[in-house]
Order: sequence, then C-alpha cells, then structure tokens
Amino acid sequence: MIDPERLPNDIQTIRPQYLNEYIGQGNIKKRLGLAIKASKIRKEALDHVLLVGPPGLGKTTLAHIISNELGTNIHVTSGPILEKQGDVAAILTNLEHGDVLFIDEIHRMNRSVEEILYTAMEDFQIDILIGKGPSARSIRIDLQPFTLVGATTRSGLLSAPLRNRFGLIMELDFYSIDELSKIIERAAIVLNVEIEKDAAILLAKRSRGTPRIALRLLRRVRDMSTIRGKVKIDIYMVEEIMFLLGIDKEGLDELDRKILRTIIEVYNGGPVGVKSLAASVGISEDSISEVYEPYLLQSGFIARTHRGRIATKKAYNHLGIKVQRGLFDEE
Ligand code: ADP
Repeated sequence: MIDPERLPNDIQTIRPQYLNEYIGQGNIKKRLGLAIKASKIRKEALDHVLLVGPPGLGKTTLAHIISNELGTNIHVTSGPILEKQGDVAAILTNLEHGDVLFIDEIHRMNRSVEEILYTAMEDFQIDILIGKGPSARSIRIDLQPFTLVGATTRSGLLSAPLRNRFGLIMELDFYSIDELSKIIERAAIVLNVEIEKDAAILLAKRSRGTPRIALRLLRRVRDMSTIRGKVKIDIYMVEEIMFLLGIDKEGLDELDRKILRTIIEVYNGGPVGVKSLAASVGISEDSISEVYEPYLLQSGFIARTHRGRIATKKAYNHLGIKVQRGLFDEE
C-alpha cells in the first residue's frame, strides 16, 4: 500500500535503512539477521519472507532493509495492481540474481496471478500460455533466483499453497511504549525538532503501539511547535494536540470509541459479527478487521468469541458506561 516515492521526503529519511537502525521486533531482527548472513555466505537468494501484521508496524520498511542488507535491488508492487499473469511475469523475468520482489497486500492478488507465483517461488521457473484456442502453447521461462517478500495484515487471508511456499513467516507485534518513544526521539532528530523525554513517552502512549501513528502524531505536534516559534515539545503541547485530534488517554480515536459504543449500545455488549458491526458503524469490514480490531483486541477492549466480538469490562469503564448486573459475573 505504501509507495515510498509518494512519501514526503522527511518520512523517507525517517525510515531505518538497516537492521541495526530498526527499533523493536527483536525476535524478527534476530531471525532475519541470521538468515541474511547465511544466504550471503552461501551466495544464494534468501528464502521467501512473509511479513504479517496490521498497517503501520514496519513491514514495508523491513522489506527495504532486507534488500539493503543483502545488497540487492528491490522491486516494489502490490497485490491489487497485479491483475494479469502477464503483469507478474514481466516483473519476474526482469529480476536479477538475489533481487527482492516486495508484494504488499499479497492477500489481494487474484487466483491466476497467485498460481504463477507457485512455480516461480519453488523452482524459479514460470509457464506462460502463448496464443489462444487450439494453437495455444505453453512455454517455460527460467528465472534468476530471487526473494519474494510478501506483506499481509493476517496470514489467514493467504491461501495455504501460497503461505506454505514462504520459508520465513514473521508476525510483527505492536510496539512497547519504550520502543515507540525511541522511534519518536529518533524521528524528531531527523525532523529537526526538539522534544522532551516525557513528551515523547506521552506521545508513544497515544500511538496504539504503531510507529506510523507515532510519526503522524509527532508531525502534528511539530506543526504546533513551528507555529509557536520552534519551542521544545513538552507534555502540555502533546496534550493540547491530542485533545484537538480527539485522541484519548488510551490512544483511541473517535472511530475506536464509536466501535466500542456500538457493540455496547446497539448489540448489548455483543457478541456481534464483523459484518453487522461494520454496517452499524458505517465503515468497511476490512477496516474493522485489519485496522481497528487488532489494537482493540490486543489492548483488551474487545474479545473475540466463536459467535463474534464482545465488549470487555475495560471498554465499559473506559467509556463510562455502567455495566448491567450479571454481565461479567463469571469473570
Ligand atoms: P507497513 O508497511 O507495515 O504498513 P511501514 O513500513 O510503512 O509499515 O512503516 C510505517 C512508518 O513507521 C514508516 O515511516 C517507518 O519509517 C516507521 N517505522 C516502522 N517500523 C519502524 C521501526 N521499527 N523503527 C523505526 N521506524 C519504524
């Protein structure tokens, strides 16, 4: 989804370029570092990598880091724009030995495009059908060994044959406050703005565990610091901006709260299926399940049961809604 060409310049430089600049995700960094080193020693292409996690956690950044660490080219594309087998064949045949092909939103590829990737990933070969009708024939094309890096929001969205062809499957976690405040402090230097330590921590607490959100909020506070004559960012400035943006102490915004309120008030606390919830809130099912729900689940505002989502006691307390008698008695 993120095309680095379309990003403002400062965000491009904020992006860490190598593994040692990438903050957090310790386990992933270790596993990737090891695999990259081994593939360089063997002079082989790195195994295919699947990066899984909600938007803004650093999947695109990691894909670029992988190619930087390998010292190879990266070709960036995304699932929805690969419409025909020819589109993907054109990209694959242009890859050089060891190159990285990054496919963002890989779960949104159509079936025929996906099928051509199977042999490409496994045998570095593709079969292309030339012509139509009885005169059609299939030709086999050899490819250079390459590394496919796929990014998706949930690995369950991928078909099993595609998922099984990735040697390295990495699930990104939400970031801790400490990690996010480090990311904010590092970005502040690049953005040439000063921020007090406790202001960075406060900003981190409001960022839903997500670097992209932390950086977006930092830019909003930086605007205020610029207008006030480049003063150092302090907690009061952060509080002021959070109030303006409607972001509460838990980092939830208007839509998060609307989702919780809908579960509680329209569906009596749940359970409710994602389809009905999306219709009541007025946003797409994908936005609920890929953007909003992961953080609400992880921070304990909602829980998932086999019959749908339910609001937890924490959600009632946060919104100041009285819990009906007996609702959480079994806890
Ligand atoms: P995704 O592809 O998962 O949606 P991105 O890789 O585009 O996320 O990351 C979003 C933003 O957050 C980028 O500007 C990136 O520089 C920053 N970012 C992500 N992860 C980290 C990290 N671990 N350390 C520093 N910055 C990060």
